[in-house]
Amino acid sequence: MSKDKPEVRYYRKRVELFALIDKIKLWPSRAGVLHGIKAVEARGEDRARLTTHCNLVFIVGNSRNSRAARWLRNKWFREVCPQCAIPEWKLAKFDATRFRRGYGSTLEGGR
Ligand SMILES: [Zn+2]
Repeated sequence: MSKDKPEVRYYRKRVELFALIDKIKLWPSRAGVLHGIKAVEARGEDRARLTTHCNLVFIVGNSRNSRAARWLRNKWFREVCPQCAIPEWKLAKFDATRFRRGYGSTLEGGR
């Protein structure tokens, strides 16, 4: 092991979904596949168009209570997309991310 374990990072549970996506660049699809995000384009106030590294496109709403937001917070996914080739360090970083109700970054202004 040449690399140290990533530091544990804390985010608020009610962090904005888009701010979170922008930060971690990962997307759990409905089928339970974790994709890497290549591009995020704003589509108005509360929608965005995500393009994954395997060139899937998702239109998502900026909801903290959406399925994807919950799955990201709980780190629910069945498998990692083989085509997206998410680097190990990114997965380790995601693994070291914790979500708390009253503690951690709100990622405000981090859009
Ligand atoms: Zn993918």
